[in-house]
Amino acid sequence: MYQRSKPQRGPLPVAPRGDSPVSIIGAGIAGAWQALLFAQAGHHVTLHERSDEAMMLSTSHWAGGMLAPYCESEIAEPIISRLGLRALDLWRRELPDTPFNGSLVVAHSRDRNDFERFARLTSDHRRLDAKALAELEPSLEGRFRDALFFADEGHVEPRRVLPKLHERIIAAGGTIKFNSEPAPADLEGLVIDCRGLSARDTQPELRGVKGELILIETDEIKLARPVRLIHPRWPLYVIPREDNLFMLGATSIESEDTGVSVRSALELLGAAYAVHPAFAEARILEFGSGLRPAFPDNLPRIAIDKKHVTVNGLYRHGFLIAPALAELTLNYVERGQIDNEVMRCV
Ligand SMILES: Cc1cc2nc3c(=O)[nH]c(=O)nc-3n(C[C@H](O)[C@H](O)[C@H](O)COP(=O)(O)OP(=O)(O)OC[C@H]3O[C@@H](n4cnc5c(N)ncnc54)[C@H](O)[C@@H]3O)c2cc1C
Repeated sequence: MYQRSKPQRGPLPVAPRGDSPVSIIGAGIAGAWQALLFAQAGHHVTLHERSDEAMMLSTSHWAGGMLAPYCESEIAEPIISRLGLRALDLWRRELPDTPFNGSLVVAHSRDRNDFERFARLTSDHRRLDAKALAELEPSLEGRFRDALFFADEGHVEPRRVLPKLHERIIAAGGTIKFNSEPAPADLEGLVIDCRGLSARDTQPELRGVKGELILIETDEIKLARPVRLIHPRWPLYVIPREDNLFMLGATSIESEDTGVSVRSALELLGAAYAVHPAFAEARILEFGSGLRPAFPDNLPRIAIDKKHVTVNGLYRHGFLIAPALAELTLNYVERGQIDNEVMRCV
């Protein structure tokens, strides 16, 4: 298992504030947070992104955006909770309008044992009976006999929050170059490589883990927070978006094919129907999938090779942990602090 990390002194800091340029490659959730914290700390930041502003080439574009360290602790290593809890503070600090309405976990009677297991393996939840659930989410009245409520969790809408982060980077003095795909060797100063799955040229262990999703629209159901439905194979969820949209996600498949299978579509739509039958009348707007960048241990890694730092392997927790990873990188660069659990000096 992992040692609790103690900040240690590492090699000499590589880029004292303001002295030399900091180039960040990849404006997905990992790179955006790195750019924001470095720009705010007074570094000369340029963020390069090969996509245009729509960010269609990033995994982040396809994500659910749940900030759910407690729910994720059912299957994730303790390091994810540690980074996730710190990251919640950073989301609150930098984007105070981030919804922290909590999240709900529900199950149908056939999955009762898995529901109880989920309750045992996670913390910081309280059990709501049917009445309390209906008070919290009136659309779910009469649907479930009880639920777990994780009051401190949040969620963001990736396609809205990435542009917000990009705006904040510019406001903090950073520069963003879209449609820019530089070779790291051509960049001066500190290079922070946040290319996700495209970084396999230097990180050959990376693999893509497919996550499929469906976007639907209905004004018949209102939810204020993500609802997870206990499912024997995947954590399936319904996440409310603005304008009566809901994201149904997400499968987790060891495949780099980016199509959406009929089986996955049936399971995702079935989960929505199980949460509320009125979802059957919703309009399907989009089927999609993204490849989560993962190392063999499914844990994030900050690899440091002199003036080249790689931040990758965010797997299924990119939105949850990216702020904390950015803070660790900044602490290394400015103070030489090494976090033993996450950093590797190569
Ligand atoms: C269906 C689904 C649901 C998910 N739900 C959640 C969730 O609820 N909560 C959560 O925390 N996480 C979730 N995730 C995981 C999360 O999406 C990923 O962990 C995260 O997006 C990885 O971010 P990244 O910045 O490392 O990679 P990416 O988002 O892929 O960003 C890398 C960027 O680098 C750019 N790039 C690549 N090569 C170059 C180059 N040479 N030059 C310039 N730019 C380059 C790419 O265009 C891309 O924009 C989900 C993922 C999926 C697929």
